Amino acid sequence: MKFIEEINQKTHEKVVYFHDPKSKLESIVAIHNTELGPSLGGCRMRNYSSKKVALSDVLRLSEGMTYKAALAGVKLGGGKAVIFGDPQIDKNDKLLESFGTFIETFKGTYITAEDMGMTVDDMAVINRTTKNVTGLSQEKGGSGNPADFTSYGTYLGIKAAVESVFSTDSLDGLSIAVQGIGSVGLKLIDYLAKYDTKIYISDIKIENIDECIAKYDVIPITNDELFELQYDIFCPCAVGSIINDKTIQTIKCKIIAGAANNVLQDYQKHGEILLKKNILYAPDYVINAGGLINIYNEFKSEYNRDNIFKQLEIIYENLMKIFNISKKNNIPTNKVSDELALQVIKNHKLINKL
Ligand code: NAD
Repeated sequence: MKFIEEINQKTHEKVVYFHDPKSKLESIVAIHNTELGPSLGGCRMRNYSSKKVALSDVLRLSEGMTYKAALAGVKLGGGKAVIFGDPQIDKNDKLLESFGTFIETFKGTYITAEDMGMTVDDMAVINRTTKNVTGLSQEKGGSGNPADFTSYGTYLGIKAAVESVFSTDSLDGLSIAVQGIGSVGLKLIDYLAKYDTKIYISDIKIENIDECIAKYDVIPITNDELFELQYDIFCPCAVGSIINDKTIQTIKCKIIAGAANNVLQDYQKHGEILLKKNILYAPDYVINAGGLINIYNEFKSEYNRDNIFKQLEIIYENLMKIFNISKKNNIPTNKVSDELALQVIKNHKLINKL
């Protein structure tokens, strides 16, 4: 028998745990805020060590989606889903279809999408049992992999950070280290390589390094060297928590600006330390909002890729605003962005009350 339990969380509008023994699906959906619109956020499949760990992940991620949507200027709220299990071993059609039936219980207040451990093909399977799914392939009527938009948005974010630190709109003469040469990282390098830059790359997949070396003039380094070498900009495009108690001690760059989610392991503490170290941090959910802006366009009657690239300019504008406020008031950039996002939601509430 299916087991469904609402978990009471004061910080969130709705959090629900679902267990379907037949398909072996165990999942939690967290809806943080729907003030601006239906909550949207990816579904992450991971081998969580406990329900508590999964819950803390989904709560944190869904809150981040609220702020991300608010600053990206899209009429969406923040939500997220997690599925317990190893995507390589435990994922199958029955499990994904069961997940779709769980999504249906939210009656459109939560819309799912791809995240870690999930693929565009998985979205198509989920779509068999719910329509509240985005990020479908182009053949299935979706917009496909959003990496083009995420990488361009990240590039614009890097330009904003460079403008703020070096007072120039060119990347010429700068040294940049990109960690993670996957869908986003490789495309990002395409933008960076147009300038006279020195580009370091690191990845755990040798084939990705080889592909990048074949295309661009880049220098491969190890993950350890990322935190030993002197260079100007660090672009994390691989994993979260890359700025942690250990790496923050030795990192020598002037800017951290990349697409990875949850770059700071300890959000408050590491944001403060970066400010003290005079390292400009482009908050992750602001700089990597390109994918979300793209998905939002899927809801519109007309989907136009060129228009979306223009909409991504908001990432540059938001970051310039955040950097200026942070500089003026000596507040960590991640704190400034949270406050600006909350302000957007507050203003929306006020306007709706009038
Ligand atoms: P991807 O899986 O295509 O690429 C990730 C790359 O990082 C791979 O090449 C992988 O080998 C490498 N990697 C993994 N662990 C590593 C490690 N410990 N050290 C070095 N390299 C490592 O993912 P992606 O779509 O390019 O996304 C990159 C990051 O950006 C992720 O953190 C993702 O959550 C975030 N992000 C992506 C999008 C998007 O549109 N794809 C949107 C928002 C945020």
